[in-house]
Amino acid sequence: MGTIVSLQLYVENPAAVTAVFNTIEALETRLTVNREHSEVMSINHAAGKHPVTVSKLVFDLIQQAKAASLLPYSRFNLAIGPIVKLWKIGFNGHSIPPADEITHRLSLTSPHLIELDQTNHSVYLAKAGMEIDLGAIAKGYIADITKLVLAQYNIHQAIINCGGNVLTIGSSPLTSSQEWHIGLKRPFAAANSLLGILHVQNKSVVTSGIYERYFIFNKQLYHHIIDPFTGYPLDNELQSVTIISDSSLTGDIYSTILFGFGVRHGLNELEKHKNMGAIFVTKDQKIFIKSNQHFQFELLADDYELCQSLIPA
Ligand code: ADP
Ligand code: MG
Repeated sequence: MGTIVSLQLYVENPAAVTAVFNTIEALETRLTVNREHSEVMSINHAAGKHPVTVSKLVFDLIQQAKAASLLPYSRFNLAIGPIVKLWKIGFNGHSIPPADEITHRLSLTSPHLIELDQTNHSVYLAKAGMEIDLGAIAKGYIADITKLVLAQYNIHQAIINCGGNVLTIGSSPLTSSQEWHIGLKRPFAAANSLLGILHVQNKSVVTSGIYERYFIFNKQLYHHIIDPFTGYPLDNELQSVTIISDSSLTGDIYSTILFGFGVRHGLNELEKHKNMGAIFVTKDQKIFIKSNQHFQFELLADDYELCQSLIPA
């Protein structure tokens, strides 16, 4: 997945560990677009030519990703592949693409052009050059499956970190409150430098931010979350959005969607989604919290201002 995955268990169970990492590898092999072959790549290779039947698992994930892409004002877009491949942000050879090439590729990113056939689990990309990219949600999906695998081994206390997607399972054996303590990284600082600590139980904690994969050119920062309406990195007041939810897939989808919404619209949206909470970190060093009672946040950085909400109580 181009990242480090760590799993912490509090019982000795090598078979469970092997099963988890085998499952992760198997899922990555199906979902990746960073290799020539995978189930998703077989769909991409057939763009404009013919539908491709995939496994139920891959079909279901694509169906969910398409639905998230079609939500009102959503800047999450599973068809963003051609633009991601053009910029190569976070990969060797990144560069600022010519504007006309961005415009051309934008015409290949409409989620409406992804045709799904429920009866035979086939996916058809209606235009040649289209590409599905599940990079924003694969880690969340994989983290959720990991929890199911561990349950098969009767393990109900664990923590898995898929490159920043943290899933806490059950309660923590490490603290007297039985809550897990999850660090929120300080943007653009060393990995052990924290803005604060989240206290959660049995929740996923997922962050989308501008400081993980980026490059700087002419003092301008270009990061890896693309605005599907412009084809350029999504530019607003935010540095990151963290979603606290039961499902890590949901967290992954909504961290991108709410990142695109910005603080005001994002906080409003959370009024409708009481099943998740969020932390918004802005470029001018403010932290907006809407916990919806899913977590507590302990601020560590005194140069950041903690704001409970923009919305009057
Ligand atoms: P990370 O990989 O750091 O966890 P995200 O979960 O935010 O970050 O996903 C970023 C990845 O999602 C990009 O590398 C790219 O593959 C893909 N992507 C970029 N822009 C979008 C978008 N607007 N909608 C959906 N996926 C995107
Ligand atoms: Mg994500």
